[in-house]
Amino acid sequence: MNTKQKALVLEVVTATCSHMTAEEIYIAAKAKMPQIAMGTVYRNLAQLVNDGVVRKLEIPNAPDRYDGCTECHEHLYCDKCGKVSDIWCGDLTEAIESATGQKLSSYTLTIRGLCSECAV
Ligand SMILES: [Zn+2]
Ligand SMILES: [Zn+2]
Repeated sequence: MNTKQKALVLEVVTATCSHMTAEEIYIAAKAKMPQIAMGTVYRNLAQLVNDGVVRKLEIPNAPDRYDGCTECHEHLYCDKCGKVSDIWCGDLTEAIESATGQKLSSYTLTIRGLCSECAV
């Protein structure tokens, strides 16, 4: 694997907090490295997700998004414009475990609503 391409893909994903789709990442990467192929971007993204440096957000009925911030946070999916916003509610594992008496291995929340722009 070409480490320069991998570094570029990581740079593109971490440069913004906009939770880009693979296609948007490809377009941004291509602007910086015109010879990069779409398959290369996809492969590197999968690798970065595997490495734990990029988080993949699976969204029902929409393309996957990629998040360069791996700190514990959740996402609000805007019903109106489709924007993905960060929600910093901390790690809920303990709260859920003490409320239910069950042991969590992981959790995935789907939070839907209106983003700050659509809510006005
Ligand atoms: Zn919105
Ligand atoms: Zn995020």
